[in-house]
Amino acid sequence: MSEDCIFCQIVDGEIPGRIVYEDDDAVAFLDANPMAPGHTLVVPRTHHETLGDLPADEGEAVFAALHRLAPVVEAAVDADASTVAFNNGEAAGQEVPHVHGHVIPRFEGDGGGPIHTVAGSRPDLSDEDLDAIADDIASAAE
Ligand code: AMP
Ligand code: ZN
Repeated sequence: MSEDCIFCQIVDGEIPGRIVYEDDDAVAFLDANPMAPGHTLVVPRTHHETLGDLPADEGEAVFAALHRLAPVVEAAVDADASTVAFNNGEAAGQEVPHVHGHVIPRFEGDGGGPIHTVAGSRPDLSDEDLDAIADDIASAAE
């Protein structure tokens, strides 16, 4: 546990949270400042800042909880869809430095956009650039 982490404090019951699901490795609770009714956060029980810091088994537990909860959350608020995403690192907008996946219920005509709207302007990449990037990622992912 990280003493000054609000999500660690929710996981440990030190501050209140509207917990909607928990298992041995993951906990889910309602976002306190929701983007939509039912906006839910899924966190690993242990404190890690980003997905890259998270051990594989805890990452699997977080994804399993997201997989379980996305349809359940949608149904609970009668949503048409959901956006499931991580702000993975400060430059991507992460404010709480404890890994968390957002399940944001979406509704036809809600005025929001797809995740393509969260990055800045699109880069101008050649086929060679794309090949090189794909090779770099593929060899690092082995
Ligand atoms: P992020 O920008 O991805 O780090 O998102 C952090 C999220 O945590 C925001 O959507 C906040 O509304 C939410 N949040 C902050 N404090 C709390 C809290 N005490 N309980 C539940 N959600 C919180
Ligand atoms: Zn934490």
